[in-house]
Amino acid sequence: MSSESNLFQTKAENTTEIPLSTLRILLWDIDGTLVRSRVNGAFKDYFIPTMKKVFGSVGNFEKMQFSGMTDTQIIYESLREEGFTPEQIFEKKEELLKVFQAEMTAIFERNFEQHEILAGVRGILAAAAETPLFYNSLLTGNLSVAAEIKLRSVDLWHYFSDSPNAFGEISHNRNDLATEAGKLFNERFDFEFAPSQFIVIGDTPNDIICARHFGAKAVAVGTGRGQFKHKLLAEKPDVFLDDLSNTNEVLKILSAL
Ligand SMILES: [Mg+2]
Repeated sequence: MSSESNLFQTKAENTTEIPLSTLRILLWDIDGTLVRSRVNGAFKDYFIPTMKKVFGSVGNFEKMQFSGMTDTQIIYESLREEGFTPEQIFEKKEELLKVFQAEMTAIFERNFEQHEILAGVRGILAAAAETPLFYNSLLTGNLSVAAEIKLRSVDLWHYFSDSPNAFGEISHNRNDLATEAGKLFNERFDFEFAPSQFIVIGDTPNDIICARHFGAKAVAVGTGRGQFKHKLLAEKPDVFLDDLSNTNEVLKILSAL
């Protein structure tokens, strides 16, 4: 057996667990990284009725550019000119989650195939799940209810259903999400992970910025709709990948970070 196949031996073959200090935690972004909506802007169909019901207005929503923002940031930025504060948004968090889930479910019940999986995603998630070195988790601006509906619709949710994920209802500031991800992992494993053990994988400059804010590694992928490679490279990710289609190559790169 070569050293490479030793490194990537499956969990089933591996009888000894690796020390937590060597674990690499993959913090996956969702939109533009794992999946993409089949219709550009499809999220408006559930965002708009949700905002009207919970906050009574959509504010500037229709005029804004949202990529890389958390769902709560989208709501805040849309409503701030109407005098809403982040605190007022988060006071309604429980209602927001409930209405968002209902509106999104109604859309997905009409058409379950709202999203498509991006190239290589199923392969790399399966491989990472089988490799003791890695732990799959989410760092996403999506509200938890939105993340679950989206990932269930493409049969990817089972990779994350038991993970300590960082979701958009944690903060309107994406940078807080990586710090919170660190805390969630420390609590789950009762261990102090080094920030450098975390690898944020995302398609926007904000993903790289939030990784750096926490001290995590950053992998940029070129699969986001409307994202420019030069803007991603300007934030100096550790690695830029056009996509995730070459599973062995991506595993090698992630394990070397
Ligand atoms: Mg994204």
